[in-house]
Amino acid sequence: MIKTDVIIIGGGATGTGIARDMALRGIDHCLIEKKDFAAGATGACHGLLHSGGRYTVKDPEAARECITENTILRKIGKKCVEPTEGLFVRLPGDTIEYRDDFLKSCKETGIKTKILSASEAIKLVPNLNPSLLEAVKVPDASIDPFRLCMLNVISSQRRGGKIFTHHKVVEIVKTRGRCTGVKVLDKFSAEIIEISGKVIINASGAWGSGIAKMAGSDVPMSLSKGSLIIANHRLSNLVINRLRPSSNGDIIVPNETVSLAGTTSIHVDDPDNLTTDPGEIDLIRSEAAMMLPDFNNIRLIRSYTGVRPLLKAADTSSGDRSISRGFQIIDHKNGMFSILGGKLTTYRLMAEKMTNRVADHFGIKIPCTTAEVPLEGQEDLSGYPVSKRLGKIENIMCECELVSRSKVKKVIEDTGTKNIGDIQHRTRLGMGPCQGGFCTYRALGLMQETGQVSPEESLDTLKRFLQRRYKGSRPLLYGDQLREEQLVEGIYLSLLGMAEHEV
Ligand SMILES: Cc1cc2nc3c(=O)[nH]c(=O)nc-3n(C[C@H](O)[C@H](O)[C@H](O)COP(=O)(O)OP(=O)(O)OC[C@H]3O[C@@H](n4cnc5c(N)ncnc54)[C@H](O)[C@@H]3O)c2cc1C
Repeated sequence: MIKTDVIIIGGGATGTGIARDMALRGIDHCLIEKKDFAAGATGACHGLLHSGGRYTVKDPEAARECITENTILRKIGKKCVEPTEGLFVRLPGDTIEYRDDFLKSCKETGIKTKILSASEAIKLVPNLNPSLLEAVKVPDASIDPFRLCMLNVISSQRRGGKIFTHHKVVEIVKTRGRCTGVKVLDKFSAEIIEISGKVIINASGAWGSGIAKMAGSDVPMSLSKGSLIIANHRLSNLVINRLRPSSNGDIIVPNETVSLAGTTSIHVDDPDNLTTDPGEIDLIRSEAAMMLPDFNNIRLIRSYTGVRPLLKAADTSSGDRSISRGFQIIDHKNGMFSILGGKLTTYRLMAEKMTNRVADHFGIKIPCTTAEVPLEGQEDLSGYPVSKRLGKIENIMCECELVSRSKVKKVIEDTGTKNIGDIQHRTRLGMGPCQGGFCTYRALGLMQETGQVSPEESLDTLKRFLQRRYKGSRPLLYGDQLREEQLVEGIYLSLLGMAEHEV
């Protein structure tokens, strides 16, 4: 039996952020994640470090939180935030009234704006729709959610935090009506481990209701699915938003070498087994092309879907987009707290508020320092732009994202992983235009060379990865991407002989 003071369930931005805050305040804790870090909404999000512009008209409180946290994260997370800035573009049909409300509200919520004429905006982003009327510049940025979670975890591990990935909470242990621990399934060994704790924090996002139910509690959630598509080029160096009330497909975020466009908002009942519908892809592509017409011709390399863990509103008649993006902490009065809602942008604030509650519970007076102390572990990252990595590379394993063999080897040795996805999340291997077509087998070879996986295990490891990869690319298989997929299929099925094994 493992003993700790605080058990955190969920390794997304919220859970890892809480682990970091607990570590900096000296609170003994343990974090349990059923997959890898950022496996839920965090890794399936747009990667937009909101300025707050998106929310300012409808939800000024959320906008204020965004701009405050945006400023903090730029300062403490220089190697995972690319300060791209953003434009809200007004196209024919987008009303001047909304533009005026937007500017007024930005002023009230403290979001700096600069109005640009169409030609000024095109000078900044030459492939913008030439019929745009004007644009408003805001301090949006691009953030890497995987890197963010890993860096949060480093602070925890350096101070003795116990971190379990690929471990799933299957039971909340209760003693005389109070939550006193969890039973956890090790996904690789199939063993059940028991961990006892004085406080349990449910930071499991869209799975929050299920975890609360295990403790005999209830959390009112509304699950909203959102899908995104990835284009194989960086089409703009700035985030591009549409200057109109929030709707489908109105944000494009540059992310290293690619562009992410989305999203949608569709109510779902189950956060698992999600798929991107072809209709969503068409909708996002055509909306993105209104802002950047190149989206009509560009090769799309992947689609993915995540679920927003929104708090249920009393009245949901106007759809999930109208539900507040604010967050809430629920004290279930049985030793468990749930922290729900919010955004990636506000994860640090959520973690601060949650840790304050736990610190009060234990009578700990140490204040929060996460807004001032830079994220630890950044010294090992190259940062932006991607070309910075070139200087340090001797032996490239992933050409798209410039990931070196030594970097991959270090991750394999540090984590002892048997999962290619874990390497991907820590290095960006396979996240670029070829989507792992050329680098996956190299990484697998290295995993074998270092004794991490046996030849028998390696085939299963590869199959799992390729199937996950195929799930993301399948809805987009036409034109050039279909040709690319056939090439990859040729490499794996013919050249590497996988056709003899059932894939
Ligand atoms: C499509 C989409 C786009 C978005 N875009 C943005 C954006 O651009 N900017 C922004 O600020 N916000 C964005 N958001 C919102 C943001 O992604 C989420 O609010 C935030 O990531 C939630 O983080 P979390 O840690 O609370 O939840 P999650 O990231 O979902 O983490 C919960 C974790 O709990 C784990 N878990 C669940 N059950 C168990 C169990 N039984 N045992 C152990 N672990 C378990 C899951 O595997 C998961 O990793 C977006 C959301 C979506 C869906």
